Amino acid sequence: MYISLTDLFKIGIGPSSSHTVGPMRAARRFLIELPDDLLAKVTRVRVELFGSLAHTGHGHGTDIALQLGFSGELPDVVDTVAIPQMILAIGQSESIKLLGERAIRFQPMLDIRYNLKDVLPLHSNAMTFRAYSDDMSKAIAERTLYSIGGGFIVDEDEAFVGSPRGGEVSVPYPFAHMVELLARATDAKLPMSELLRANEHHVRGAAATSDFLDRITKTFFDCIDKGLATRGQLPGGLNVKRRAPDIHNQLLVERGQRGIAPHKALDWVSAYAIAVNEENAAGGRVVTAPTNGAAGVVPAVLRYAQDFCNVDRAGQHDFLLVASAVGALCKMNASISGAEVGCQGEVGSAAAMAAAGLAAALGASNEQIENAAEIALEHHLGMTCDPIGGLVQIPCIERNAMGAVKAISATSLAMRGDGTHRVSLDQAIDTMRRTGADMQSKYKETSQGGLALAQVEC
Ligand code: SF4
Repeated sequence: MYISLTDLFKIGIGPSSSHTVGPMRAARRFLIELPDDLLAKVTRVRVELFGSLAHTGHGHGTDIALQLGFSGELPDVVDTVAIPQMILAIGQSESIKLLGERAIRFQPMLDIRYNLKDVLPLHSNAMTFRAYSDDMSKAIAERTLYSIGGGFIVDEDEAFVGSPRGGEVSVPYPFAHMVELLARATDAKLPMSELLRANEHHVRGAAATSDFLDRITKTFFDCIDKGLATRGQLPGGLNVKRRAPDIHNQLLVERGQRGIAPHKALDWVSAYAIAVNEENAAGGRVVTAPTNGAAGVVPAVLRYAQDFCNVDRAGQHDFLLVASAVGALCKMNASISGAEVGCQGEVGSAAAMAAAGLAAALGASNEQIENAAEIALEHHLGMTCDPIGGLVQIPCIERNAMGAVKAISATSLAMRGDGTHRVSLDQAIDTMRRTGADMQSKYKETSQGGLALAQVEC
């Protein structure tokens, strides 16, 4: 079982991979996987949201994502600028074009239902889709899909059957834990990035893998640049002002000055992360890394590697290959879903990915890479998910900046040692899993506890 680069890094839209990208893909999948004769009979579709999706779905844009998915749109190619107009047209006409083809009646307030009472047993992020043909008392098709984080969608058969939860792809160097990956690298006498490159080449070929890595890097950096240049207020009602452009301008002014304190380099990293997460909060184009809520950490550290450490294209590819493997381990052996294990699974996993990626790009040994990821994850353990107003803004935007800074510190500390240490990355990931299982649901993306209960002045 293997979770590849393209599984982990998915180009999509903000603000949430589990609450926006996942539901959009789920709504489309529900319709696409209906037999043609059944799809032809559908005159109405409804969806019932459970658990975290019901509690924070509105703030996360789940309702918008579902309408886009029913319309046949895909998160990686939908025109983000046209979305408000598309949603307005559906609301005003009270109709939706199924998969972009045939218009049926659709009333968002009636056809998207938020079940605040029930949580389905397999996962907190559940959606039950129903299709009707004239007789609204009896659905002609019904299916429950789960959004399990990072834009991944599973049905009841696929959900958690076996472990790890990856696809059925065979690769030359399979691994389910870091200890196996390290052992395979030692046996092959290769850097970790080379093993991972061989795996990815086996899945889709060398040229397509390089193209994908370039595309992800470009999307990361485009998002940073757009966020650094865009002023205004974020949507949702919290009146959060975009800060990345002001921080960026201050840094540009200071750039030529003498005697700049070394820690100012970290302000650049923070600005990069904040820029991405402000774009995410505004519904812009982002990459799951491993999720949308945590989308700023990996790009910020990758940009730091380029701008401050002269990491070139080959180094960027090493960075992303290793970061992807660490994200896959977090997903396989714990979770990358805030609704399942809290924010440790999102920003914590992202920091571990970024720390390992940076270490690889800087030429660290395999053991130092593992150590960097472990330090970064260890110091996010127990972190709850408690977004104010169900919006991916407070604490999410700053939290990505903090995750990126911690990732860089973790890499630096690991590279000052020889890789030997007491707690392994596998143990830290397992601790994240157990801690997430112990965490009360009010701290798992339901906006019912923690900071979500703080008073915010609007
Ligand atoms: S608090 Fe963390 S896990 Fe929760 S929505 Fe924000 S970034 Fe995602």
